[in-house]
Amino acid sequence: MDTEEGMMAETYSGGCQCGAIRYRFTEKPSGAHVCHCRMCQKAFGAFYAPLVGGLRASFEVTRGEIATFRSSDQAERGFCANCGTPLTFSYIDGKHMSVSIGSLDDPEAFPPVDQHGVEGRLSWANAIGSLPDRPTTEQEEPETAAFIASTNHQHPDRDTDTWPHPRRNA
Ligand SMILES: [Zn+2]
Ligand SMILES: [Zn+2]
Repeated sequence: MDTEEGMMAETYSGGCQCGAIRYRFTEKPSGAHVCHCRMCQKAFGAFYAPLVGGLRASFEVTRGEIATFRSSDQAERGFCANCGTPLTFSYIDGKHMSVSIGSLDDPEAFPPVDQHGVEGRLSWANAIGSLPDRPTTEQEEPETAAFIASTNHQHPDRDTDTWPHPRRNA
């Protein structure tokens, strides 16, 4: 007897900060990497883009609709139009869909295995890991941290049955 048969397949879910968009992969995404190219820096507003992906056939949006920007005639970048979270990267008509590792519910499970677009790497990007460490509790007053926690509008790192429709700037 096939013990896999009938078992609920494990899924790998994620979504945007406000919760308007939720997605999942039905197979574990692979090939986690960071891309240092200038287009990824701009699209993520960051030093590099952390991406991992899988077949489009294993990817589905389970809540909302991903807005897209064609960053070239080759590629499309998806984001939440409500909160701005960068979510996807794909080649137009390609079979592959990549997502931002930070938007997955369990980013810890996707350590990068290589770096792409290194011609665009910022000269100090490699040194970030050796900068002084400061936890949030050292930077925020306890009252400020408590206020932020009690007014947190970020969607939890799991699927939810209901979630208040996020209003702009709510
Ligand atoms: Zn959102
Ligand atoms: Zn890139």
